[in-house]
Amino acid sequence: MKKIFAANWKLYKGPKETRDFFKEWNKVFSGNKSEVVFFPSAISLEAAALSIQQSNSKYELSFGVQNAYSLGQGAFTGENSAAVVKELGGKYVLVGHSERRQIFLENNQIVADKVAFSQATGLVPMLCVGETLEERDAKRTREVLRTQLVQGLQKADKTKTLVIAYEPVWAIGTGRVATPEQVRQTHQDVYDILTELGFAAPILYGGSVKPDNSSGLIAIDHVDGFLVGGASLDPASFKSICESHLK
Ligand code: PEP
Repeated sequence: MKKIFAANWKLYKGPKETRDFFKEWNKVFSGNKSEVVFFPSAISLEAAALSIQQSNSKYELSFGVQNAYSLGQGAFTGENSAAVVKELGGKYVLVGHSERRQIFLENNQIVADKVAFSQATGLVPMLCVGETLEERDAKRTREVLRTQLVQGLQKADKTKTLVIAYEPVWAIGTGRVATPEQVRQTHQDVYDILTELGFAAPILYGGSVKPDNSSGLIAIDHVDGFLVGGASLDPASFKSICESHLK
């Protein structure tokens, strides 16, 4: 299976910084047989779309939106439309990131509607799941992930493409990465739960992935790529992560 390396830029990089990133990125990244996905902030999507179009890369570069509402248009002030992302040439919608769940109070029902609507619009949902530290310490990780997957995928179309990102909440933006054994066990669990539910999907790991820990993590079974926050903001550091499977 080809590897997928995704950059979550959160609320960083306006259109100018986005264009500047891609100018530098085109110099450092000559490509490989993986897919590289960018999630810029919504206001920088068009700048990313144009930069990717003009990049002349023969390798697969794509982009998506960090959040899209579960309807394509209407009186929903402040929301993003998956239909507009599709019109711009986008491929993915990030759904259920822990910051959306924790800060914007998205529950598994909201997540399920967004997964289904993204697929219906012709976009690929990248569904994020992950446990808090309290849940891990209480040995509830598998149960929490199972609930997030069962409920988050309850309206999903099994015939359409889907990507899962396993991101332990305690490892996101903290510099604290899960141990190889935690990643191995949890990716195996996510894989087994998906199989039981009848889904086949690449499973990305996310949570403080950096150039110096990425080669060890990518070698683990059922780690099909990464979702990267902080270390994706710099072209050289993200390039190094996108080449982790080649080292
Ligand atoms: C993320 O935002 O999804 C993420 C994994 O962030 P970081 O790499 O900074 O931990």
